Amino acid sequence: MELRNYMELVADEALGRMLVDREDVCKCEHCRKDALALVLNRLPAKYIVTDKGRIMTKIKETEVQFQADIIRELVKALEIIKKSPRHNLNV
Ligand SMILES: [Zn+2]
Repeated sequence: MELRNYMELVADEALGRMLVDREDVCKCEHCRKDALALVLNRLPAKYIVTDKGRIMTKIKETEVQFQADIIRELVKALEIIKKSPRHNLNV
């Protein structure tokens, strides 16, 4: 069994979908993780205990509940990344 932050899983999936349509934002791993960190610092963590097989089903079931909040925070995060990407900094 695994302890996972459910919010992280949903936000990561939503970020992936959003970046498909965004030609203006860098998609490197550093920028993706920065965007995810910004979003997750603003949203409450939702920990769940799960096995790997069931986790995707769970996401589909309750995704809608948090989707609006996550999308709103993702849009803000991408604006921040776009203005000042940190991928060239050794931090
Ligand atoms: Zn980048």
